[in-house]
Amino acid sequence: MKYISTRDRNKTYSAAEAVVKGISDDGGLIVPSSFPIIDKKLLDELCAMDYPERAAKVLSLYMEEFSYEELCDYTRKAYSRFDGDPCPLVKVEDGLFVLELWHGPTYAFKDMALTVLPYLMTASKKKIGDNSKTLILVATSGDTGKAALEGFKDVEGTEIIVFYPEKGVSAMQKLQMITQQGSNVHVAGIKGNFDDAQTAVKAIFTDADVIAKLKAKGIEMSSANSINWGRLAPQIAYYVSAYCDLLTSGEIEEGQKINFAVPTGNFGNILAGYYAYRMGIPVNRLIVASNANNILTDFFRTGEYDVNRKFFKTMSPSMDILVSSNLERLLFEVTGRDDAKMREIYGELKKTGVFRLDMSQLDLDVFEAGWADEDETTETIGNFFDLDDYVLDTHTAVAVSVYNDYASDTEDDTTAVIVSTASPYKFACDVFNAVSDRHETDVDKAVKGLMRSTGAECPQGILDLPRMEIRHRTVIEKDGAKQAVFDFLSE
Ligand SMILES: *Cc1c(COP(=O)(O)O)cnc(C)c1O
Repeated sequence: MKYISTRDRNKTYSAAEAVVKGISDDGGLIVPSSFPIIDKKLLDELCAMDYPERAAKVLSLYMEEFSYEELCDYTRKAYSRFDGDPCPLVKVEDGLFVLELWHGPTYAFKDMALTVLPYLMTASKKKIGDNSKTLILVATSGDTGKAALEGFKDVEGTEIIVFYPEKGVSAMQKLQMITQQGSNVHVAGIKGNFDDAQTAVKAIFTDADVIAKLKAKGIEMSSANSINWGRLAPQIAYYVSAYCDLLTSGEIEEGQKINFAVPTGNFGNILAGYYAYRMGIPVNRLIVASNANNILTDFFRTGEYDVNRKFFKTMSPSMDILVSSNLERLLFEVTGRDDAKMREIYGELKKTGVFRLDMSQLDLDVFEAGWADEDETTETIGNFFDLDDYVLDTHTAVAVSVYNDYASDTEDDTTAVIVSTASPYKFACDVFNAVSDRHETDVDKAVKGLMRSTGAECPQGILDLPRMEIRHRTVIEKDGAKQAVFDFLSE
């Protein structure tokens, strides 16, 4: 399997190169040159496997330089850090399931890929004969940062620096990051929002001065953001696995289509669902759920992507994003892999903050899009607990709200999987207030209140958090990221 750039179809990479490089030299995203098909025989095989095996099998279809056994070794090690089944599918009503992707070390779905990525990255470097040290640079809207820190901590030959919007993440997310342990980890708050952090990191990646200075120290930069193929590929597996689980439990019949509703920010999670669909998993609808930062809803409805709009800080901060990087991968596919078009529209976006596409020309039938405001999100958490005795986190609640709107508008009663991206305890204040009608602002009290009022089990790591030592206090200006990289590396 070769990989190509969304901005130049003639530029090719191997899977290992794709993982090491993160982004193509021309600024495009690296995508597989074709989609391997999961036929009936392979699906049967997958159904008989446990999750680490399913994940390794799906990865092996895309990564020819790796043997299935090698990949299985990585996924076994990665998913052994999870508490039980890495992605249980919980039935909440007839025909309605929640796919829980948050049983990993940081209690959010980023762990599904970021526990595997360090293995892929280290092995990929070896395979392409690259002996340099790795500097992982991450811009985070909250959950990626912590998951990347956990994934890469104390990985040999690797340093990791995470930039987060100082006031744009939840109290719990911030505490998780600033208490991070490990000898190779660095964390800095940026005085700005997520897009500022992402812009700063993107600039550093292409900064000739930084590249040269790092090279002199034998260091090369790599990205753990969701544009990295090594992040995206492991995510395809849980869509396939959810389908297998529905089949093996007799909830659906072979070939029966299902819906997925996905709380969406950078478009990485749902894009993996689209890839699973392109591989032959029977999907009726992929429902793109946004919060008040509803740029994707507008795009899917009108074809206009316009970042010149108000940015909202919401109770689902991991979706507070205006530039959804991975959308480029989808647009590449649905324009018939028109790399010239990608250069054009992403040039426009950079210059004016807007691009427009003629939706009648694009094959987007499998997608639906909608959004939920803060009140709807709160109400959904309360109602879902009352009706189904299930506690949703703020992000997953957005998906449920959008799914409910979709189902009542269309009367579509296809079996549906809500992709659940975080433990409710990670957003304890908002979730507790939603189920109890309170206004608690103290995280510790909210965690205890949530345990008391719902009986939902709280991960030990979250209970321990208030007692952890704070190890990272750096806060920088928007334009200070480059200097921070030099400072951290000379420590
Ligand atoms: C990252 C994240 C999302 C958004 O996922 P994307 O892949 O960026 O679309 C949603 N919910 C939670 C809890 C997350 O951490």
